[in-house]
Amino acid sequence: MDSFELGDLSVKPGTIGKGSLASVRLSAGTQVASPVVVAHGVEPGPVLLAMGATHGDEIVGTAALIATLKALDPTTMRGTLIAITVANPLAFEHASYESPHDRLHMALPVRWPAAPQGLITQRLAASHLPAFEKATHYLDIHGNPDPSWPIAMLLPEQASTERVRKDQELIADATGLTRVRMTEPADASGSLVGSIAGQPAAAASAHGVAGVMLELVSRGSTTAAEMGRIAVMNTMRALGILDDEPEPQVVPRLEGVYQYHGGVVNQHAGIFWSKHLPGSDVDAGTVIAEITDVWGDTVEEVTVPVDGFLWGHLGTLYGNSTHAIPEGSFVGFVAARPEPGA
Ligand SMILES: [Zn+2]
Repeated sequence: MDSFELGDLSVKPGTIGKGSLASVRLSAGTQVASPVVVAHGVEPGPVLLAMGATHGDEIVGTAALIATLKALDPTTMRGTLIAITVANPLAFEHASYESPHDRLHMALPVRWPAAPQGLITQRLAASHLPAFEKATHYLDIHGNPDPSWPIAMLLPEQASTERVRKDQELIADATGLTRVRMTEPADASGSLVGSIAGQPAAAASAHGVAGVMLELVSRGSTTAAEMGRIAVMNTMRALGILDDEPEPQVVPRLEGVYQYHGGVVNQHAGIFWSKHLPGSDVDAGTVIAEITDVWGDTVEEVTVPVDGFLWGHLGTLYGNSTHAIPEGSFVGFVAARPEPGA
């Protein structure tokens, strides 16, 4: 077995190596780079690239990867884990979804095509490409603010081959999380967070690296790290990198593969009161929340448009996610229930 080479890192079989990818430089001379940890096994096998803090305020992914690395013994591994614990350190430092410097975020199409001479976020994104070139599989780990329901996103339309599509299914199933098939919705909700095809797991899948996007919960803390660790390690088990038995997830998933429907936007300003927490599978027309004004009168009943569930009550989209909301806030992503037998 050869050592695993990534940038300046050379990681011997059965060991863990830590370093940084290529850096960018800020005005005061500070250098900023994505931290990377490589756990290299003792036999050849798949190379799983996993990434946290693609959105800089979603540190749950960072926590999930640190918890995973603490639990791994590379002397028992077949293949390799590359963990980019902070994909966007510019945004991470500011507890921000996007980089403050150029208002770009890492789930935009910033890697393909690579722009190493482009804006600063594009330059950082280009620093990740050597890891994608080594990877056979990819997990992009995000998190929503609470209350939310954890999901694994399949991106079948972007899969470059049937094998990539099947590997997406294998990974998403292994995570133990509720599966949602992501295709561009009829409404604008896809473009509010970036097009589906531009999501890193979709773009990687279009380039032959089977990618799945995880949307965990408790975005800004380490609280859900264990959920993420189980998802990552169960993925490594499904790929044959680890030999031991899969672990049960922290929360039971909704069975079957749901279909992304779109977003729900409130028509009236006020306070958002959830009646069915995210992850409750309800029929179309069910009132999932009420909005009251600040005098306590109900001004709106928010219904789910299809049979299925909402996976997050985002409130004010990307910011402090307060549930004191102006009209026209994004109060949930909706996934449609699978047809019976599907
Ligand atoms: Zn995100």
